[in-house]
Amino acid sequence: MNAQRIGILGSTGSIGTQTLNVVDQHPREFLIKVLTAHSSLDLLKTQIEKYKPEAVCLVDEAKADELKKHVKGSIHVLSGYSGLDEAARWESVDTVITAVVGNIGLKPTLEAIKAKKKIGLANKETLVSGGPVVMEAAKKYGAEIVPIDSEHSAIFQCLKGENVKEIEKIILTCSGGPFRGKKLHELEGVTKEQALNHPTWKMGGKITIDSATLMNKGFEVNEAMWLYDVTADKIEAVIHPQSIIHSMVEFVDGSIIAQLGTHDMRIPIQYALTHPKRIPLNVPKFDFVHAKQFTFEKPDMETFECLKMGIEAARMRGTVCCVLNASNDTAVEAFLKNEIEFLDIQHTIREVMNAHKNVHHPTLEDVLSADKWARKETKEILMQKTDLRKNKV
Ligand code: NDP
Ligand code: MG
Repeated sequence: MNAQRIGILGSTGSIGTQTLNVVDQHPREFLIKVLTAHSSLDLLKTQIEKYKPEAVCLVDEAKADELKKHVKGSIHVLSGYSGLDEAARWESVDTVITAVVGNIGLKPTLEAIKAKKKIGLANKETLVSGGPVVMEAAKKYGAEIVPIDSEHSAIFQCLKGENVKEIEKIILTCSGGPFRGKKLHELEGVTKEQALNHPTWKMGGKITIDSATLMNKGFEVNEAMWLYDVTADKIEAVIHPQSIIHSMVEFVDGSIIAQLGTHDMRIPIQYALTHPKRIPLNVPKFDFVHAKQFTFEKPDMETFECLKMGIEAARMRGTVCCVLNASNDTAVEAFLKNEIEFLDIQHTIREVMNAHKNVHHPTLEDVLSADKWARKETKEILMQKTDLRKNKV
């Protein structure tokens, strides 16, 4: 059997490096052809030496120039966003793992779809912002999209051999994040370090903040809606702090199928690569007796308004989903730079969403222009908030 040829967009991040760990465990099954990063030059150099890909891309042009001086032989060094698009459609690749962060993944994902690649989709923002555009393109070009996000991989596995028309409800589980149980006033002044301290998953900074605000779960409602072609009212989020049940599907006859396992992203990453087959994976295995209990709670959507807004956007569909994502992206970036308060994230997104005029059946151009508008609007509101605070001091 020929090895599956893989391109990783975002190979230096949390999902990217875990994908490489899966590849390391099965050197005969998988072959790395393309690696990309934004600016992590040193780590990319190490990965190039180990995996000897055909092409690499650094979006940061200056870093890419430095890399060109370092690489020897026939490795193609691409740069900028056009380089990322080229990496996504690289000819010798069978499967593209989309593990960049934010909706910069949208264009390269569309390029990979047009080139009829199999997509292992981790980059959920792509589906939140451009769900209808991406799904339509996948259908048109016959490209398969396999989810990597643990909840969506769980649903994918629960639906194996099932008829999606017989779904009663999709139950997305949610750890609750580091602030589970807190009320709104208790979230005033929480720090970046507290927000980054996720109780169960170790992930990149942006998604960890999204998990603290519960925007991540709001995004996942959108992601499930597009991947499984169900309406938002058929998707329910339930807090399950142990993060062992990764999600469930209830069928019309009342039967519920769940997928369980330790919280280790290498499991859904490998399944995206090997499905419908399963092959061994060296990860910690789950022990029921040691675990003792599974608990469930209703999410508090008044405190964690991001989840509420995510569900609202999914119900509305259209460019508002893209606005939700772009506004969140901008606000989280500012929070990670210590420029704004934690609660500014949700308050600002609400203002931006309220100000947006929704386009219900958007084209790619509508999505990109809504994205641009939302980023600008968010920056302006955040600036007003910080100026007001400075004037008070
Ligand atoms: P990380 O921040 O750890 O990694 C992001 C990767 O994307 C890095 O390789 C980074 O390069 C690259 N990147 C960042 N910005 C740009 C840019 N502007 N242009 C090109 N490349 C860029 O993120 P994660 O791995 O945590 O998450 C990746 C995606 O997967 C996200 O969409 C997230 O929501 C999703 N996801 C992640 C999970 C996890 O467990 N981590 C679970 C489920 C979904 P560089 O190193 O140079 O900055
Ligand atoms: Mg998830």
